[in-house]
Amino acid sequence: MIQLSLDGAARGGLKVLCLGSHSDDIEIGCGGTILRLAEKYPDCTFHWVVFSATGVRAAEAQCAAMRFAGPRLRGPVLKTFADGFLPFAGAEVKTVFEELKREISPDLIFTHSRKDAHQDHRLVAELTWNTFRNHLILEYEIPKYDGDLGQPNFFVPLQPETYKNKVQFIIDAFQSQHSKHWFQPETFLSLMRLRGMECNAPSGYAEAFYSRKVTL
Ligand SMILES: [Zn+2]
Repeated sequence: MIQLSLDGAARGGLKVLCLGSHSDDIEIGCGGTILRLAEKYPDCTFHWVVFSATGVRAAEAQCAAMRFAGPRLRGPVLKTFADGFLPFAGAEVKTVFEELKREISPDLIFTHSRKDAHQDHRLVAELTWNTFRNHLILEYEIPKYDGDLGQPNFFVPLQPETYKNKVQFIIDAFQSQHSKHWFQPETFLSLMRLRGMECNAPSGYAEAFYSRKVTL
């Protein structure tokens, strides 16, 4: 299968907007892809926005964003909406999106899946499409208790060093989540292994996305 390239991005480097409802969503959903893009496109920048990051979770989000994006990080913008209540603050969340639209015109946007079972994730996905209407948007997946995994159609194979770093960075950065029964390396590795199988990744590991609209 031939690979699509992002070499045609605007001059001045690829601008990537990373959107996450909670402080570990971006890293779990597309952390490996961010590491890969940073390596492949040294001029790229990552504009990082987390909608619910309070207390220790804000500190963890800051630390993780720096670990994944390094000197290419712009922000992070860490908002303090209550976890689980994003749809009930919809007008304020939409205002954040409108501010983002004025500040940045990204070449690529990572956001939640429109069919995610978590209401906070769904709202961010819906407002992404509602706000950015001439952009390449890739929706990432988050494994969860609710069991909402589907059939993604866009794959990013990852080298062994990349997927191992992704998992290690997540485990290192989000200490407050270690008590959750699902927050284990096996969760992240097993999903990437299945997606790697589905796209014939040379390493066997990949991240996967939903791409609803692409132009050639
Ligand atoms: Zn989340």
